[in-house]
Amino acid sequence: MNTVRTRFAPSPTGFLHIGGARTALYCWLYARKMRGTFILRIEDTDLERSTTESVQAILDGMDWLNLGYDEGPFYQTKRFHRYHEVIEQMLKEGTAYRCYCSKERLEKLREEQMARKEKPRYDGKCRNLTEPGEGPFVVRFKNPLDGTVAFDDLIRGRVSFANLELDDLIIARSDGSPTYNFTVVVDDWDMKITHVIRGDDHINNTPRQINILRALGATPPLYAHVPMILGSDGKRLSKRHGAVSVLQYREDGYLPEALLNYLARLGWSHGDQEIFSISELIEYFDIKDINRAPAAFNQEKLLWLNQHYMKNSDPEHVARELLWHMEQLGIDIKHGPPLTEIIKVQAERTKTLREMAERSRYFYESVVLTDEMKAHITPEILPALIMVSDRLANLPEWTKEGIHEILASTAEIHGLKLGKLAQPVRIVVTGGTVSPPIDDTMVLIGRERVLERLKRIHDLDMLSEVEDKG
Ligand code: GLU
Repeated sequence: MNTVRTRFAPSPTGFLHIGGARTALYCWLYARKMRGTFILRIEDTDLERSTTESVQAILDGMDWLNLGYDEGPFYQTKRFHRYHEVIEQMLKEGTAYRCYCSKERLEKLREEQMARKEKPRYDGKCRNLTEPGEGPFVVRFKNPLDGTVAFDDLIRGRVSFANLELDDLIIARSDGSPTYNFTVVVDDWDMKITHVIRGDDHINNTPRQINILRALGATPPLYAHVPMILGSDGKRLSKRHGAVSVLQYREDGYLPEALLNYLARLGWSHGDQEIFSISELIEYFDIKDINRAPAAFNQEKLLWLNQHYMKNSDPEHVARELLWHMEQLGIDIKHGPPLTEIIKVQAERTKTLREMAERSRYFYESVVLTDEMKAHITPEILPALIMVSDRLANLPEWTKEGIHEILASTAEIHGLKLGKLAQPVRIVVTGGTVSPPIDDTMVLIGRERVLERLKRIHDLDMLSEVEDKG
């Protein structure tokens, strides 16, 4: 059996959409599962709509998701000589022909057909010219006139189209540039693609592509058309529904493995299992288990998976992603605890890395007490706070247990519940009312900074600003 060769073939006309990322993932998984080859091909022949930023967004997105390709990226704009070569070959063999019909004639033909309520299509006037015409020409594919073209879609089953429905497709425009369906065909052929897995918005292109492949004497690959992703309102997923760009998910604080797991399950299943490692996905994935029905995007489930992976992935890997967010927020982590420690205390309390980064500033930066926060430091609590501060200064070892003991016994001496003391301590030390357990938090902020922050309570007037020196 031929080894499996799949390709992801995005057009760089925007960001890498999560629908595209899911297609890429399925192509990648299938190639990995079958020990085949995964190819990245950038379909950039639409010069007006393709941008280098978009190419970069695709490469960055693939990179972030860790979907490595074995061959490519191939750029269609670098393959024009090859497309021209095939066009010449087809002209010579008579499977394509020059069409000299003017725009005006085609427009008139179209209007007449519409008036007769017929589907507009080229009438084949130049199909069998014996003499070359005059003026500019396009090159059209000589589509078979009768019969059907059918294929067994690996997801949908048998799909067939009447050839009568298919036009004599233009394969080269009057300026000689090849058209989209044609370049796909030449590339799939040259790159020896065995399985085309792509969005079902391309299903109408497939019969045309198969006909051209056959005319070239090539064996068409197998096709799998993946149903689209819907928003929660049942409409096709778009920006209206929130983030759709892969890199936006990165910015929003998702881990790549969470997005991959989510996208894999969105449209494919393996029993009731929800959480899959990459190696499990490779082992279990099969094209035939892709759902036929479109799937609706569920943000809550993605968040749930994200938190799962924040808690359970390799902490060093999560830390690398968290570092990226810290940098995005301009938080310098040089003088604070290692990020792996932050993850340990925060993963349970946050759903995204962005949220984790935003809520961890006080581990690294000085804190400012707002008037609202200052209001929590009442005169009644002040003596206990001062005692905590003094005793912490003398704590021999800066440990969770030591800190806890000081808080508990100071609360007791002052006849306070632990929480009544812990909250104002938290406010002075973190600048806010929400943090991991206060003893864990203080261990990580470090003795020097904690004492620096607590020292300010000796001078109530200075409570408006509590700053670290270090
Ligand atoms: N370039 C096409 C797109 O981005 C995909 C073509 C294909 O997979 O055959 O929609």
